[in-house]
Amino acid sequence: MRIVVTGGAGFIGSHVCDRLIAEGHHVAAIDNFITGSPDNIAHLIGHERFEFVQADIIAGCWVEGTVDAVMNLASPASPVGYLDNPIETMLVGSHGTHNALELARQKGARFLQASTSEVYGDPLEHPQHEDYWGHVNCVGVRSVYDEAKRFAEALTMAYHRRHGLQTRIIRIFNTYGPRMALNDGRVVPNFVAQAVRNQPLTVYGDGKATRSFCYVSDLVDGMLRLLWSNETRPVNIGNPREMTVLEFAQAVKAAAGPTCTSEIVFVQPRAERIADDPQRRQPDITRARTVLGWEPRISLEEGLQRTIDYFRSRI
Ligand code: UDP
Repeated sequence: MRIVVTGGAGFIGSHVCDRLIAEGHHVAAIDNFITGSPDNIAHLIGHERFEFVQADIIAGCWVEGTVDAVMNLASPASPVGYLDNPIETMLVGSHGTHNALELARQKGARFLQASTSEVYGDPLEHPQHEDYWGHVNCVGVRSVYDEAKRFAEALTMAYHRRHGLQTRIIRIFNTYGPRMALNDGRVVPNFVAQAVRNQPLTVYGDGKATRSFCYVSDLVDGMLRLLWSNETRPVNIGNPREMTVLEFAQAVKAAAGPTCTSEIVFVQPRAERIADDPQRRQPDITRARTVLGWEPRISLEEGLQRTIDYFRSRI
Protein backbone atom coordinates (compact mmCIF):
# COMPACT_ATOMS: atom_id res chain seq x y z
CA MET A 1 0.00 0.00 0.00
CA ARG A 2 1.02 3.62 -0.43
CA ILE A 3 -0.02 5.77 2.48
CA VAL A 4 0.11 9.54 2.96
CA VAL A 5 0.75 10.64 6.55
CA THR A 6 0.19 14.34 7.22
CA GLY A 7 2.05 15.45 10.32
CA GLY A 8 4.51 12.65 9.53
CA ALA A 9 7.39 14.38 11.33
CA GLY A 10 5.42 14.83 14.54
CA PHE A 11 5.65 12.75 17.70
CA ILE A 12 2.86 10.32 16.80
CA GLY A 13 3.15 10.75 13.02
CA SER A 14 6.79 9.66 12.94
CA HIS A 15 5.97 6.50 14.90
CA VAL A 16 3.15 5.79 12.44
CA CYS A 17 5.62 6.17 9.54
CA ASP A 18 8.05 3.77 11.25
CA ARG A 19 5.36 1.15 11.72
CA LEU A 20 4.08 1.43 8.14
CA ILE A 21 7.60 1.15 6.73
CA ALA A 22 8.28 -1.87 8.99
CA GLU A 23 5.11 -3.51 7.61
CA GLY A 24 6.36 -3.09 4.03
CA HIS A 25 4.23 -0.14 2.92
CA HIS A 26 5.27 2.95 0.95
CA VAL A 27 4.91 6.17 2.92
CA ALA A 28 4.65 9.77 1.78
CA ALA A 29 4.96 12.00 4.84
CA ILE A 30 3.99 15.66 4.78
CA ASP A 31 4.94 18.15 7.50
CA ASN A 32 5.66 21.87 7.81
CA PHE A 33 7.69 21.42 11.05
CA ILE A 34 5.52 23.91 12.94
CA THR A 35 5.66 21.52 15.89
CA GLY A 36 7.17 18.42 14.27
CA SER A 37 10.92 17.97 13.83
CA PRO A 38 13.28 16.73 11.10
CA ASP A 39 15.03 14.72 13.84
CA ASN A 40 11.96 12.48 14.17
CA ILE A 41 12.28 11.22 10.59
CA ALA A 42 16.03 11.62 9.98
CA HIS A 43 16.50 7.82 10.12
CA LEU A 44 13.87 7.35 7.37
CA ILE A 45 15.32 9.84 4.89
CA GLY A 46 16.85 7.90 2.01
CA HIS A 47 14.74 4.79 2.63
CA GLU A 48 13.49 3.52 -0.74
CA ARG A 49 9.87 3.34 0.45
CA PHE A 50 9.83 6.69 2.25
CA GLU A 51 9.20 10.11 0.70
CA PHE A 52 9.03 13.39 2.55
CA VAL A 53 7.31 16.57 1.41
CA GLN A 54 7.83 19.75 3.43
CA ALA A 55 4.53 21.56 3.02
CA ASP A 56 1.68 23.18 4.93
CA ILE A 57 -1.53 21.27 4.23
CA ILE A 58 -3.51 24.47 4.89
CA ALA A 59 -2.24 25.63 1.48
CA GLY A 60 -2.73 22.28 -0.25
CA CYS A 61 -2.28 18.54 0.15
CA TRP A 62 -1.22 16.68 -2.93
CA VAL A 63 1.09 13.85 -4.00
CA GLU A 64 1.47 12.34 -7.47
CA GLY A 65 0.68 8.68 -8.11
CA THR A 66 -1.58 6.17 -6.44
CA VAL A 67 -2.60 6.54 -2.81
CA ASP A 68 -4.37 3.83 -0.82
CA ALA A 69 -4.85 5.67 2.45
CA VAL A 70 -4.54 9.19 3.84
CA MET A 71 -3.86 9.53 7.56
CA ASN A 72 -4.48 13.11 8.65
CA LEU A 73 -2.38 13.71 11.74
CA ALA A 74 -1.19 17.26 11.03
CA SER A 75 -1.92 19.69 13.89
CA PRO A 76 -0.28 21.25 16.89
CA ALA A 77 -1.41 18.93 19.68
CA SER A 78 -0.03 20.15 22.98
CA PRO A 79 -1.80 22.97 24.84
CA VAL A 80 1.35 25.11 24.57
CA GLY A 81 1.54 24.30 20.84
CA TYR A 82 -2.00 25.33 20.08
CA LEU A 83 -2.05 28.31 22.45
CA ASP A 84 1.05 29.63 20.64
CA ASN A 85 -0.44 28.86 17.19
CA PRO A 86 -4.18 29.41 17.60
CA ILE A 87 -5.04 30.47 14.04
CA GLU A 88 -2.82 27.82 12.43
CA THR A 89 -4.48 25.19 14.64
CA MET A 90 -7.97 26.21 13.52
CA LEU A 91 -6.92 26.39 9.87
CA VAL A 92 -5.17 23.03 9.81
CA GLY A 93 -8.24 21.39 11.36
CA SER A 94 -10.53 23.04 8.79
CA HIS A 95 -8.74 23.89 5.50
CA GLY A 96 -6.01 21.31 6.11
CA THR A 97 -8.53 18.55 6.77
CA HIS A 98 -10.54 19.62 3.74
CA ASN A 99 -7.44 19.39 1.54
CA ALA A 100 -6.52 15.98 2.96
CA LEU A 101 -10.08 14.71 2.43
CA GLU A 102 -10.00 15.94 -1.16
CA LEU A 103 -6.74 14.05 -1.73
CA ALA A 104 -8.39 10.87 -0.43
CA ARG A 105 -11.52 11.43 -2.54
CA GLN A 106 -9.61 12.11 -5.75
CA LYS A 107 -7.32 9.11 -5.24
CA GLY A 108 -10.12 6.76 -4.13
CA ALA A 109 -8.20 6.23 -0.89
CA ARG A 110 -9.48 5.55 2.59
CA PHE A 111 -9.12 8.37 5.11
CA LEU A 112 -8.27 8.39 8.79
CA GLN A 113 -8.76 11.53 10.88
CA ALA A 114 -6.73 11.92 14.06
CA SER A 115 -9.14 13.38 16.57
CA THR A 116 -8.82 13.78 20.30
CA SER A 117 -10.31 13.29 23.75
CA GLU A 118 -10.53 17.11 23.74
CA VAL A 119 -13.76 16.79 21.73
CA TYR A 120 -15.26 15.84 25.12
CA GLY A 121 -14.01 19.14 26.62
CA ASP A 122 -14.18 19.24 30.42
CA PRO A 123 -16.41 16.17 30.48
CA LEU A 124 -19.56 15.78 32.54
CA GLU A 125 -19.63 12.02 31.88
CA HIS A 126 -17.00 9.66 33.15
CA PRO A 127 -15.36 7.64 31.70
CA GLN A 128 -15.85 9.09 28.24
CA HIS A 129 -17.72 6.88 25.78
CA GLU A 130 -17.81 7.75 22.07
CA ASP A 131 -21.54 8.49 22.24
CA TYR A 132 -20.97 11.36 24.69
CA TRP A 133 -21.30 14.70 22.84
CA GLY A 134 -18.91 16.58 25.07
CA HIS A 135 -18.71 19.78 27.08
CA VAL A 136 -16.54 22.31 25.24
CA ASN A 137 -16.28 26.04 25.91
CA CYS A 138 -16.44 27.23 22.31
CA VAL A 139 -14.90 30.64 23.11
CA GLY A 140 -12.31 29.47 25.66
CA VAL A 141 -8.57 29.35 24.96
CA ARG A 142 -8.60 25.59 24.30
CA SER A 143 -11.41 25.97 21.77
CA VAL A 144 -8.94 26.54 18.92
CA TYR A 145 -7.95 22.89 19.23
CA ASP A 146 -11.21 21.39 20.47
CA GLU A 147 -13.41 23.05 17.86
CA ALA A 148 -10.92 22.47 15.05
CA LYS A 149 -10.97 18.76 15.83
CA ARG A 150 -14.74 18.72 16.22
CA PHE A 151 -15.05 20.46 12.84
CA ALA A 152 -12.60 17.95 11.33
CA GLU A 153 -14.74 15.07 12.61
CA ALA A 154 -17.89 16.69 11.19
CA LEU A 155 -16.24 17.32 7.81
CA THR A 156 -14.97 13.75 7.72
CA MET A 157 -18.50 12.45 8.32
CA ALA A 158 -19.85 14.82 5.64
CA TYR A 159 -17.40 13.31 3.12
CA HIS A 160 -18.45 9.84 4.22
CA ARG A 161 -22.14 10.62 3.79
CA ARG A 162 -21.92 12.77 0.66
CA HIS A 163 -19.16 10.98 -1.24
CA GLY A 164 -19.21 7.52 0.30
CA LEU A 165 -15.57 8.00 1.32
CA GLN A 166 -14.17 5.22 3.51
CA THR A 167 -13.50 7.24 6.67
CA ARG A 168 -12.13 6.44 10.12
CA ILE A 169 -12.02 8.70 13.19
CA ILE A 170 -9.67 7.96 16.06
CA ARG A 171 -10.08 9.90 19.32
CA ILE A 172 -6.62 9.92 20.83
CA PHE A 173 -6.28 10.22 24.60
CA ASN A 174 -3.07 11.40 26.30
CA THR A 175 -0.20 9.59 24.59
CA TYR A 176 3.47 9.66 25.52
CA GLY A 177 6.81 8.18 24.57
CA PRO A 178 10.09 8.89 22.79
CA ARG A 179 10.13 11.84 20.34
CA MET A 180 7.86 14.07 22.39
CA ALA A 181 9.45 17.50 22.05
CA LEU A 182 11.35 18.50 25.18
CA ASN A 183 9.76 21.94 25.12
CA ASP A 184 6.24 20.92 24.13
CA GLY A 185 4.95 21.82 27.58
CA ARG A 186 2.79 18.78 28.23
CA VAL A 187 2.90 17.05 31.55
CA VAL A 188 4.91 14.03 30.36
CA PRO A 189 7.85 15.86 28.74
CA ASN A 190 7.82 18.47 31.51
CA PHE A 191 8.00 15.95 34.37
CA VAL A 192 10.39 13.58 32.59
CA ALA A 193 12.79 16.37 31.59
CA GLN A 194 12.60 17.82 35.09
CA ALA A 195 13.33 14.41 36.66
CA VAL A 196 16.26 13.78 34.31
CA ARG A 197 17.70 17.21 35.21
CA ASN A 198 17.02 16.77 38.95
CA GLN A 199 14.81 19.86 38.86
CA PRO A 200 11.47 20.22 40.71
CA LEU A 201 8.45 18.53 39.11
CA THR A 202 5.93 21.33 38.54
CA VAL A 203 2.40 20.23 39.45
CA TYR A 204 -0.10 22.89 38.35
CA GLY A 205 -2.82 23.84 40.84
CA ASP A 206 -3.65 21.12 43.36
CA GLY A 207 -2.64 18.20 41.13
CA LYS A 208 -6.06 16.55 41.50
CA ALA A 209 -6.97 16.66 37.80
CA THR A 210 -6.78 13.18 36.29
CA ARG A 211 -5.39 11.84 33.04
CA SER A 212 -4.91 8.34 31.57
CA PHE A 213 -1.61 7.83 29.74
CA CYS A 214 -1.15 5.55 26.74
CA TYR A 215 2.27 4.50 25.44
CA VAL A 216 2.81 5.48 21.81
CA SER A 217 3.33 1.95 20.40
CA ASP A 218 -0.06 0.89 21.80
CA LEU A 219 -1.67 3.97 20.25
CA VAL A 220 -0.13 3.28 16.83
CA ASP A 221 -1.29 -0.32 17.01
CA GLY A 222 -4.88 0.81 17.69
CA MET A 223 -4.71 3.42 14.94
CA LEU A 224 -3.63 0.94 12.28
CA ARG A 225 -6.21 -1.62 13.38
CA LEU A 226 -8.83 1.09 12.97
CA LEU A 227 -7.48 2.18 9.57
CA TRP A 228 -7.85 -1.33 8.13
CA SER A 229 -11.19 -2.02 9.86
CA ASN A 230 -14.66 -1.14 8.54
CA GLU A 231 -15.57 1.04 11.52
CA THR A 232 -16.81 4.49 10.50
CA ARG A 233 -17.90 5.61 13.97
CA PRO A 234 -15.33 7.39 16.16
CA VAL A 235 -13.17 5.07 18.26
CA ASN A 236 -11.43 6.05 21.51
CA ILE A 237 -7.85 4.82 21.74
CA GLY A 238 -6.20 5.35 25.10
CA ASN A 239 -5.11 3.59 28.24
CA PRO A 240 -7.92 3.44 30.82
CA ARG A 241 -5.49 3.51 33.79
CA GLU A 242 -6.49 6.84 35.33
CA MET A 243 -4.44 8.78 37.86
CA THR A 244 -4.15 12.26 39.29
CA VAL A 245 -1.41 14.54 38.02
CA LEU A 246 0.15 14.36 41.51
CA GLU A 247 0.19 10.53 41.36
CA PHE A 248 1.73 10.80 37.91
CA ALA A 249 4.50 13.04 39.26
CA GLN A 250 5.24 10.42 41.91
CA ALA A 251 5.32 7.70 39.23
CA VAL A 252 7.81 9.68 37.13
CA LYS A 253 10.02 10.31 40.15
CA ALA A 254 9.97 6.61 41.04
CA ALA A 255 10.74 5.58 37.46
CA ALA A 256 13.70 7.98 37.35
CA GLY A 257 15.28 5.93 40.14
CA PRO A 258 17.05 6.65 43.43
CA THR A 259 19.53 9.09 41.88
CA CYS A 260 16.67 11.48 41.07
CA THR A 261 16.64 14.24 43.69
CA SER A 262 13.69 16.18 42.24
CA GLU A 263 11.05 17.48 44.65
CA ILE A 264 7.40 17.72 43.69
CA VAL A 265 6.25 21.34 43.87
CA PHE A 266 2.85 22.99 43.35
CA VAL A 267 2.94 26.01 41.05
CA GLN A 268 0.47 28.38 39.39
CA PRO A 269 1.19 28.62 35.65
CA ARG A 270 -0.06 31.49 33.49
CA ALA A 271 -3.85 31.58 33.69
CA GLU A 272 -4.51 30.61 30.07
CA ARG A 273 -2.43 27.44 30.52
CA ILE A 274 -4.98 25.96 32.93
CA ALA A 275 -8.17 27.69 31.76
CA ASP A 276 -10.85 25.07 31.07
CA ASP A 277 -8.37 22.35 32.07
CA PRO A 278 -10.39 19.11 31.94
CA GLN A 279 -10.70 17.85 35.50
CA ARG A 280 -11.12 14.16 34.71
CA ARG A 281 -10.24 12.17 31.65
CA GLN A 282 -10.43 8.42 31.10
CA PRO A 283 -11.31 6.59 27.90
CA ASP A 284 -14.08 4.02 27.72
CA ILE A 285 -12.41 1.57 25.33
CA THR A 286 -15.25 -0.93 25.01
CA ARG A 287 -15.63 -0.12 21.31
CA ALA A 288 -11.91 -0.53 20.57
CA ARG A 289 -11.91 -3.82 22.48
CA THR A 290 -14.96 -5.29 20.75
CA VAL A 291 -14.56 -3.91 17.21
CA LEU A 292 -10.76 -3.85 16.87
CA GLY A 293 -9.75 -6.48 19.42
CA TRP A 294 -7.37 -3.83 20.75
CA GLU A 295 -6.13 -3.06 24.18
CA PRO A 296 -3.03 -1.39 25.56
CA ARG A 297 -0.17 -3.68 26.51
CA ILE A 298 2.66 -1.45 27.74
CA SER A 299 2.47 -0.67 31.46
CA LEU A 300 3.04 2.87 32.70
CA GLU A 301 6.23 1.76 34.44
CA GLU A 302 7.68 0.25 31.25
CA GLY A 303 6.56 3.14 29.05
CA LEU A 304 8.01 5.70 31.45
CA GLN A 305 11.31 3.85 31.52
CA ARG A 306 11.57 3.97 27.73
CA THR A 307 10.60 7.64 27.73
CA ILE A 308 13.14 8.51 30.43
CA ASP A 309 15.86 6.66 28.47
CA TYR A 310 15.00 8.75 25.41
CA PHE A 311 15.03 12.03 27.31
CA ARG A 312 18.35 11.10 28.96
CA SER A 313 19.83 10.59 25.49
CA ARG A 314 18.55 14.02 24.39
CA ILE A 315 19.51 16.05 27.45
N1 UDP B 1 0.31 19.81 34.12
C1 UDP B 1 1.05 19.98 35.29
N2 UDP B 1 2.36 20.35 35.20
C2 UDP B 1 2.99 20.54 34.01
C3 UDP B 1 2.24 20.36 32.80
C4 UDP B 1 0.91 20.00 32.89
O1 UDP B 1 0.52 19.79 36.40
O2 UDP B 1 4.20 20.87 34.02
C5 UDP B 1 -1.09 19.38 34.21
C6 UDP B 1 -2.12 20.20 33.43
O3 UDP B 1 -2.58 21.30 34.20
C7 UDP B 1 -3.21 19.17 33.18
C8 UDP B 1 -2.44 17.86 33.04
O4 UDP B 1 -1.17 18.08 33.64
O5 UDP B 1 -4.08 19.06 34.31
C9 UDP B 1 -2.24 17.42 31.60
O6 UDP B 1 -1.79 18.54 30.85
P1 UDP B 1 -1.11 18.42 29.45
O7 UDP B 1 -0.55 19.77 29.11
O8 UDP B 1 -0.15 17.28 29.40
O9 UDP B 1 -2.23 18.08 28.37
P2 UDP B 1 -3.82 17.95 28.36
O10 UDP B 1 -4.13 16.60 28.85
O11 UDP B 1 -4.41 19.04 29.23
O12 UDP B 1 -4.16 18.16 26.92
